[in-house]
Amino acid sequence: MTGVTARVEPAAPPTDPRGSAAGRRAGGPRGVSSGAVVNALTVDLEDWYHVCGAGETADPGQWSAYESRVTRNTHTILSLLGTRGIRATFFVLGFVAEREPGLIRAIAREGHEVATHGHFHRRIFEMSPLEFEADLVRSLDAIAAAVAGTVVGYRAPEWSMRPHTAWALPILRKHGIRYDSSMVPLTRMGDRAYPRLPCRLATDYGEIMEFPLTTVRCFGENLPFTGGLPMRLAPYFYILSSIRRLNARGHPALVYVHPWEFDAEQPRIELPWSRRFMHYYNLSATPRKLGGLLTHLPFASVRDVLGV
Ligand SMILES: [Zn+2]
Repeated sequence: MTGVTARVEPAAPPTDPRGSAAGRRAGGPRGVSSGAVVNALTVDLEDWYHVCGAGETADPGQWSAYESRVTRNTHTILSLLGTRGIRATFFVLGFVAEREPGLIRAIAREGHEVATHGHFHRRIFEMSPLEFEADLVRSLDAIAAAVAGTVVGYRAPEWSMRPHTAWALPILRKHGIRYDSSMVPLTRMGDRAYPRLPCRLATDYGEIMEFPLTTVRCFGENLPFTGGLPMRLAPYFYILSSIRRLNARGHPALVYVHPWEFDAEQPRIELPWSRRFMHYYNLSATPRKLGGLLTHLPFASVRDVLGV
């Protein structure tokens, strides 16, 4: 399996999709002026027990025994989006598509993009290329069994794309994936040299687009703030003003949430303290901050923002 060229090209900055063919599929919040840069809203569709590397719940053989809370939590997100007419991208775990096919149909029925988050929520660097391909294909099959339509987007569990797993990109492209959203330009995850803005990458199977995690430059480092624990920690005005600054320069931000972040009552998994903090700290902030962002900024699915 060969790799990809390192050279990346910035993608054309997306504008308000209501003015484009893609935009006619996307909604926009009230009061957003035409020509505004549109941000990408994404949901990693997984349940409360899908925590990478968590000993207690790591065995997929046990998953069917756990209470399913993903449908109820996802409907909370769907109503938040529905009242504002916003379409998002749902990176669906294949396991969830198998267990809750009606949920995937409901997501598609409301006009959202259905993309893949892999099947068993395994980080890329824990798999061989063959295992990765099998996991990807199983997720695509599970999604196809639930809902019609072509899946063109992929997000790795826990943003686990790494320089040494670049072999994953041609595999994704080989199976029809046209954009990846798994790169994190950070020193401690991903790679600090990864792109910070949407760009195009060449693979042996053709071009694939990358929409990396949005970061801000701060004291020479890239800092995340648009999802997960970083969004729950960052002050709302900081998140909003940072995205507005990015948009003013013509670039879209990428925001991500998980259904379990809308579920304060979920069962708590035994985790090392750092992962417990990352997973459960300040959960109530996510619905509040997301609601604010949806009110103040234009959002659409990744597919519409990138125009793929
Ligand atoms: Zn995940």
